[in-house]
Amino acid sequence: MTAQIHLFPCRQDNFGVLLHDPASGATAAIDAPEAAPVEAALKAKGWKLTDILVTHHHADHTDGIAALKKAYQCRVVAPRAEAARIALVDETVAEGDKVSVGKLTANVIETPGHTSGHIAYWFHGDKLAFVGDTLFSIGCGRVIEGTMEQMWRSLLKLRDLPDDTQIYFGHEYTEANIRFARTIEPNNKALLAREAEVKQLRARNAPTCPVKIGDEKAANCFLRADNPEVAASLGMAGKPAAQVFAEIRERKNRF
Ligand code: ZN
Ligand code: FE
Repeated sequence: MTAQIHLFPCRQDNFGVLLHDPASGATAAIDAPEAAPVEAALKAKGWKLTDILVTHHHADHTDGIAALKKAYQCRVVAPRAEAARIALVDETVAEGDKVSVGKLTANVIETPGHTSGHIAYWFHGDKLAFVGDTLFSIGCGRVIEGTMEQMWRSLLKLRDLPDDTQIYFGHEYTEANIRFARTIEPNNKALLAREAEVKQLRARNAPTCPVKIGDEKAANCFLRADNPEVAASLGMAGKPAAQVFAEIRERKNRF
């Protein structure tokens, strides 16, 4: 049996995600934006929380940990580099470590930039990756603690995952991201196709998550900073990709 996923809204624009292993009954929450919607989702599915896998220390990803741990005595797994800034951590992980949720196994990928110790969980056997606030559909996280160079390298690691990997990201920002991306690549056909798809999804209040990384790398300008056409359109032909990425990220900050 394969992994089951339940996605639901939390807070203003966060996604809550439950990952369930039917073979063992284990269930992980990816981040804990707030406790109540996670508990409601667990009840709706009839699942018992065994693990919380934290991507980074921000409050909108960790505020629910204390109440959930009290209710379920679940294990809390968090990035080693941020463990001191996250409450009630049981296990810390870093690049190359493996994390099991029942019989499902994730590889830990360090993706610093948004925060200095941000990590992603890649369940390669299930073709799933939980990327927190590093990559969004047609966007990426703000570079708050790391450098632009670091964030670009982190995005490249995610871009290198197999094309059919389903990416689960932390926020429903896709419509606004598309409005910005069109200023960078107005003629990108993959972007225009994604825009049409997102319009339909949002019209019926459906989430724009997950996305396949193969589709995302054709449409998301933040993953395309090493494309010569993107560099040229910004007047940066021949410039290092990390610099082109930084320019796109700074334009988005001002957008
Ligand atoms: Zn964040
Ligand atoms: Fe966030």
